[in-house]
Amino acid sequence: MKPLQKAKVPRTRKCPVCESESWRIAYGMILPDARELMPKTVFAGCCVFMDERLNLATGERELGSPDWECQNAECRHQWW
Ligand SMILES: [Zn+2]
Repeated sequence: MKPLQKAKVPRTRKCPVCESESWRIAYGMILPDARELMPKTVFAGCCVFMDERLNLATGERELGSPDWECQNAECRHQWW
């Protein structure tokens, strides 16, 4: 068992498209000193953008805002 990471440090995920490292997207006003505690985070500001995806479980389209952004400059895939 690995020791628990500090809660303020978000983990990264693998992009489902290109398998590059992907970072969590943080919305809202985040002060610079708070940002320093959040490495590997994309700061999207206040504009929450909506995206559409196909829910494979139900076969229906649903709206949401992406939580993850691929850090590969040629991919930039966003998903949640
Ligand atoms: Zn990608």
